[in-house]
Amino acid sequence: MRAPTVKPVRRRTFAPWYDRIKCRPELFFEPATEEQLIEIVRLIRQKGRTCRVVGAGHSLSDLPCTDDYMIGTDRLDRLIAVDEKTRRVRVQGGMRLSVLHRHLEKHRLALSCVGSISDQSVGGLIATATHSTGVNYASMSTLVTELTMVTADGELLTCSRTKLPRLFRAALCSLGCLGIIVRVEFECERAFDLRATEELLPMDSVLEQWDSTIRSAEHVRLWWFPHSDRTLVWRASRTDKAMRRAPARSWFRTRLLGYHLYQGAIYASRALPALLPAIERWHVALLHEKPTTMVGPSHRVFNYDCSMRVWASEWAIPLEHACDALRQIRAMLRQCAFPVYFPIEVRFAAKDDIWLSPAQGRAVCYINISIPRPYRKELPYQQYWREFEAIMRQFNGRPHWAKTHSLVYEDLVKVYPHLDDFLELRAQLDPAGVFLNAHIRRHLLPSTRKHHADL
Ligand SMILES: Cc1cc2nc3c(=O)[nH]c(=O)nc-3n(C[C@H](O)[C@H](O)[C@H](O)COP(=O)(O)OP(=O)(O)OC[C@H]3O[C@@H](n4cnc5c(N)ncnc54)[C@H](O)[C@@H]3O)c2cc1C
Repeated sequence: MRAPTVKPVRRRTFAPWYDRIKCRPELFFEPATEEQLIEIVRLIRQKGRTCRVVGAGHSLSDLPCTDDYMIGTDRLDRLIAVDEKTRRVRVQGGMRLSVLHRHLEKHRLALSCVGSISDQSVGGLIATATHSTGVNYASMSTLVTELTMVTADGELLTCSRTKLPRLFRAALCSLGCLGIIVRVEFECERAFDLRATEELLPMDSVLEQWDSTIRSAEHVRLWWFPHSDRTLVWRASRTDKAMRRAPARSWFRTRLLGYHLYQGAIYASRALPALLPAIERWHVALLHEKPTTMVGPSHRVFNYDCSMRVWASEWAIPLEHACDALRQIRAMLRQCAFPVYFPIEVRFAAKDDIWLSPAQGRAVCYINISIPRPYRKELPYQQYWREFEAIMRQFNGRPHWAKTHSLVYEDLVKVYPHLDDFLELRAQLDPAGVFLNAHIRRHLLPSTRKHHADL
């Protein structure tokens, strides 16, 4: 076999963002052109090896990991075309979302919705159907109008709503196992400002006025602080008011106290979990007690500071069961003997028709529990995790693909009506399993093994 023209790095340690699991791919490739990528994929296939593609590595699981070959997309990050009239933009799959925002700003365009951060690669966020929040806003994959992948046999394959529509509905959440996304076309809208407010309310009143609360703005996100049973309601809607810069946040308050001291306090609570309610009260009083308002360009308002390393479990349940599920979580937490370190995040998404999207065929409420990793130290989580998952499963929950969960094929097939269609397509496109890794085999492929806890 001839050597590829892109020199790989040997045994480069790779750790996803949350840094709990590491892997050491035998070879790490970083192609700068589609031709180089195609050459690498063909060589890997000829050699009978496997590879995983990685974007920004911001998954909170071993989803992108492999000890075989890994392909990074950081150098496939070009802007291909912008059409201001049709508001369509074409970019390469390795472009980071933050870079895409900058290009769009120059053309007075914006994506309709964005998640909590913009560090992901375009390919990575599509591959996991990354979502924002808002009952009328579906996942960010639904903003894609066309995409092109390099398949396992090194061919370019383009799909859209009209061209290979079945493949398109599979490729908009493909977990990196149908092909490597190299080109993406997004439909944008005119750049807009969002006006966001934050208000602290008792959880009881949020639950009592649930429907009006979650529809009280275009985008609503809840942070439920379980020890004090209060909820920070974040609401954001488009505004035509003249562009104003978001008010500068004090470094002392947000970074020094809100991050460093908070991290230290959580670390200390490892030995003294009884401190947790007091830590929560102090943190809420420091950052959230006063209602706040900010106005700014949409993506800056959607994003917030996520610098605390966490490990997360996030599930999408049918929207109509959200209140019941939250009440059950509350009952579980009131009786529990395990520590709860972090607020619970609640978001919303409209239904879509992407085969493996957690919102396929149903509007959903996403509920996310996070376990912080202060100074990269592990905190106890297993029981919390298990009890939370049990409630989510009771409501036919579907886990976020980029986060950690314990479902296997036999569980997933019950909640994803198109899982078998997806796996059939995967087998057609990649019969040799070039893009498979341990995560995909463990969770997605049918197995004879019993329920496997990936915790
Ligand atoms: C702090 C933080 C905040 C987050 N906020 C949100 C949020 O608000 N909403 C939400 O839904 N998720 C959120 N996530 C999850 C995140 O959006 C996903 O993990 C996303 O996949 C990360 O993109 P990435 O480029 O890092 O992908 P990676 O972690 O590198 O890869 C993820 C998957 O995508 C595949 N992949 C990567 N690039 C390509 C490509 N070019 N072609 C095909 N497959 C590819 C990989 O093989 C892997 O299976 C958050 C994660 C973190 C760490």
